[in-house]
Amino acid sequence: MSKNLLPGWQPLSTGATAALCIVGHPTVQVQSPRAFNARFAAIGIDAVMFSMDILPAAIDAFVAMLRGWENAPGCIVTVPHKQALAAACDELSARARMLGAVNVVRREADGRLIGDITDGLGFANAARGHGVVLEGCRAAVIGCGGAGSAIAHALAEAGAAELRLADPDGGRTAKLAGLLRESFPILTVLEEIEDLAGLDIAVNASPVGMNDDARLPLAAESSAAQSLAPPTLVADVVTRPEITPWLAAGRALGCPIQTGAEMTGGQVKEMAGHLGFDFSKVP
Ligand code: NAD
Repeated sequence: MSKNLLPGWQPLSTGATAALCIVGHPTVQVQSPRAFNARFAAIGIDAVMFSMDILPAAIDAFVAMLRGWENAPGCIVTVPHKQALAAACDELSARARMLGAVNVVRREADGRLIGDITDGLGFANAARGHGVVLEGCRAAVIGCGGAGSAIAHALAEAGAAELRLADPDGGRTAKLAGLLRESFPILTVLEEIEDLAGLDIAVNASPVGMNDDARLPLAAESSAAQSLAPPTLVADVVTRPEITPWLAAGRALGCPIQTGAEMTGGQVKEMAGHLGFDFSKVP
């Protein structure tokens, strides 16, 4: 548990403070508390976000507590609880239902839980910020777990023309491809990534490259990796380190890059909106 001193930190809490947590296991890596607390302070909202590192065995108890937690507007959800919280929700957005996962849950006054997943929106918003036109875009999504599925779904929803998918777990690739084909019949979905030439986006949506992992999600000598070139946007979901080996490789080739932190930042407004906070006036 962190005992770090935070320079300038002022705990602001009253008896009426809205208590918002991000639930995960572990949680030392999470970025949301800083992002939300800075915005609460900037526009004077009496709310605080903190992390709750909850073991999988205790997640049912957490859900029961959330239903009865009167000063909690809901919670943010991260790995490994996204699927368990989706199963526990009383209502899900269409995308959360399709993906079987949530990353934000609103608690209604009667204790009902309403879930949504904004990871893909965060990625899409960040990519637009890099000037990528998503309508008609062609992208490679490397990793078909929770993050990769959310990104692929958001790109498809934004009008992508072609998605190339890869995951060492072929079952996951096939499952995501099937869901996409069913929901977006005119989208071209390829279940392999033979090359990246001419694509608008090549995103690592796997945990490869996290912390001290020096690996690339595609082997450097593979024909796919060899075909990477500007102006493809090279993106990563991993937030630690900020510049992953995949991003470093893209940058060395002269490609524009998009970090995992940009994806996180790109969805703060959407998550806050689901929880009932209006961040549109944040400077
Ligand atoms: P997950 O376990 O659901 O999925 C990871 C997938 O990556 C698995 O299907 C696995 O088989 C696949 N994989 C592993 N090695 C691979 C490789 N070499 N090539 C292709 N696929 C490979 O995990 P997740 O929830 O999708 O999270 C993945 C990463 O995304 C984590 O590091 C997580 O912290 C990060 N994440 C970031 C954000 C953000 O906002 N920046 C949001 C969600 C998740």
